[in-house]
Amino acid sequence: MKVLEINKEELIHNINIIKKINKVEDGLKSPEIIAVVKGNAYGLGLVEFSKILIEQGIEFLAVSTVEEALELRQNDIKCKILMLSSTGVEEDVKNLIDNNIILTAGSKEVLEAIDKEAKERNEKVKVHLKIDTGFGRYGFIYSEPLKIVEAINQTENIEIAGTFSHFSESYSKDSKWTSTQYERFLNVVENLQLNKINTGLLHICNSSAFFKYPYMRLNAVRVGSAFSGRILIPNIYGLKKIGILKTSVSEIKILPKNFNIGYSNTYKTKKETRVAILPVGYQDGIIMTTKNDCFRLVDHIRYIYNDVKNIIKDNNFYVKINNKRYKALGKIGMYNIVVDVGNDNINIGDEVFIDTKILYIDSKIRREYI
Ligand SMILES: *Cc1c(COP(=O)(O)O)cnc(C)c1O
Repeated sequence: MKVLEINKEELIHNINIIKKINKVEDGLKSPEIIAVVKGNAYGLGLVEFSKILIEQGIEFLAVSTVEEALELRQNDIKCKILMLSSTGVEEDVKNLIDNNIILTAGSKEVLEAIDKEAKERNEKVKVHLKIDTGFGRYGFIYSEPLKIVEAINQTENIEIAGTFSHFSESYSKDSKWTSTQYERFLNVVENLQLNKINTGLLHICNSSAFFKYPYMRLNAVRVGSAFSGRILIPNIYGLKKIGILKTSVSEIKILPKNFNIGYSNTYKTKKETRVAILPVGYQDGIIMTTKNDCFRLVDHIRYIYNDVKNIIKDNNFYVKINNKRYKALGKIGMYNIVVDVGNDNINIGDEVFIDTKILYIDSKIRREYI
């Protein structure tokens, strides 16, 4: 047995915090919240999570793949959905339009592909323009606004419903680069508008920028990780970290002294040791580091250091059984973890909780909202 257990009340708590922070005080319209549900909703379960968001009044979702968009529609989710990745692949474009998904266009070629399909159907298709302000992925290059104008003016059946860009390090303490990207974005928007392009809904903030730079929220914000309470900036907002992997002890045994545990013979018992075997492992998406998600250089170095240490030594990985922490011995296997339980009263079938990066937990593992 293994499930990813999510406390629904805590999720609603996070949604309410985000809504409250987003609220504009003086009666003006608050920015629209676009909930980003890519990556199986950051591990929280694409469909289940999206349904709760909708129950809580969120009316706009965003995904990164065609498959995610279609899965939402196949599960009767009818709200607005934005596909964040720009795609000019004919089959993708057809599928997205068939399912009433708002497309993203980040190049002249993609605009053309969408326009061609729209013309064949004799309908107007809604598109958000993606501007690359310094990420180097999808998007029209910010420094060539007239090329964007030209590309748009060549289309006939496209309705620009929004224009957006994405920050590459808005979690950083140094705000300079984020401000630069923001300025570049506003500049492109201004140029498009001067050329009579309707830019639609303007949005650039992800979770970190949403919290750190209220003035950058524009018409909408794209919030993803914050719903799960796992953000890359200090959590001073009271978000709860949600989602925990639950399994149960599948075997208990006593290993003699000097007995090897796991592949590569990285660990030998120092004395006779009573261990519990847990039926989960890296194939389920359990990764070895237990540090917080972070992408600063020092963390990278720390990760590398830990990885090397893990190869040489054991994992320093802990699980919780009956509210007590137990250490994993040896390397984590594909579908097993061995923990030292000493003489504690732990038996086959006892519940085990594993606090791990839920984003990586195999989407085949059931998400259970309690
Ligand atoms: C993932 C993503 C987001 C959400 O980012 P978080 O930091 O998780 O809130 C927003 N916009 C785009 C384009 C994304 O890919």
